[in-house]
Amino acid sequence: MASKLSPYRRIVVKIGSSLLVDRKDGLKGGWLDSLCDDIAELRAAGHEILVVSSGAIALGRTVLDLPARTLKLEENQAAAAVGQIALARVFSQSLARHGLTAGQILLTLGDTEQRRRYLNARATISTLLQLGSVPVINENDTVATSEIRYGDNDRLAARVATMMTADLLILLSDVDGLYSAPPKLNPDARFVDHVGEITADIEAMAGDVGTELSRGGMVTKIEAAKVASRGGTAMVIASGRAEHPLEALARGARATWFDPVGSSSSARKKWIAGQLPRERAVVIDEGAEQALRRGKSLLPAGVVDVRGTFTRGDTVAIVNAAGARLGQGLIAYDSADAQRIAGRRSSEIEQLLGFSGRAEMIHRDDLIVEAAAKAAVVRE
Ligand code: GLU
Repeated sequence: MASKLSPYRRIVVKIGSSLLVDRKDGLKGGWLDSLCDDIAELRAAGHEILVVSSGAIALGRTVLDLPARTLKLEENQAAAAVGQIALARVFSQSLARHGLTAGQILLTLGDTEQRRRYLNARATISTLLQLGSVPVINENDTVATSEIRYGDNDRLAARVATMMTADLLILLSDVDGLYSAPPKLNPDARFVDHVGEITADIEAMAGDVGTELSRGGMVTKIEAAKVASRGGTAMVIASGRAEHPLEALARGARATWFDPVGSSSSARKKWIAGQLPRERAVVIDEGAEQALRRGKSLLPAGVVDVRGTFTRGDTVAIVNAAGARLGQGLIAYDSADAQRIAGRRSSEIEQLLGFSGRAEMIHRDDLIVEAAAKAAVVRE
């Protein structure tokens, strides 16, 4: 795929229920196969793909032939129980046509919000990716009740994307993006193809366009964009109505793209500071040390050594050649890749690794630098 997606290595794809399930006919198998064809192609091009799929409740409803009225919580949960098992099977079968394995992950809110469980969920998903599987993620609807649920998969997908330090979150939906007003009601509605920052104006454009089968409308998509962009993940809302939706997006189909802002919020920095990198570290040269003290990112060029084994998104210590600990941060590369690009220019990354990863080894929004005096004491 000659591709608008090539700058993004790790990609989370969220699929809305109405794309996958037809009210009358049930699962749209042809569409799912076309999506899995696209996933296989992206994987072959070096991307890592995670799927967040809705559709458990919608599918369970059709399997159980439940009435079209609003269901009670326990009916929805029963529908999810029946639908999820079917959903997992069809993903697994469709990906298997390409020799790919699917791994099912069902999350509840606490799994991304409590640090210990967050680390555990992240480790499992990272391992699945390392093993070459495609994680297929949904909310654990059968046990989640209103107080303890994400409630919609747009927000769930955004949390997963930031948890996994994904480069891009794709929300495939039955609309092709954001309009200045609801397009069905207002013929003058303007399509918004790019959002640099989520302002009050942008939020005001998000009228609710949810359908009967899915919970998320434009409001939850804008909420998801806020979570994603704060976490340094770009996001795009694109139509998934036609077959091969990812191929269409890669070829430049109309969509609304949201820039990541990268967060320097103190809460995030505190959280980074609270992590324990143990024996994982990058050793940096003097020039890089000075750059970090001036608030810059850590580039591969300034790294002289890589210690320990880690996965992209792990916290690693930053030390200088004398062994003084300078700080720590979330690294953008697995340890093997970090080794390969250490000491090299960012422009060489694509040639060295076969994909165009981030220019920064650790982005400045993802790192904390300890005060110089403290580092000096450690050095003595
Ligand atoms: N988790 C729900 C399901 O799989 C979907 C929630 C949503 O539509 O956002 O049915």
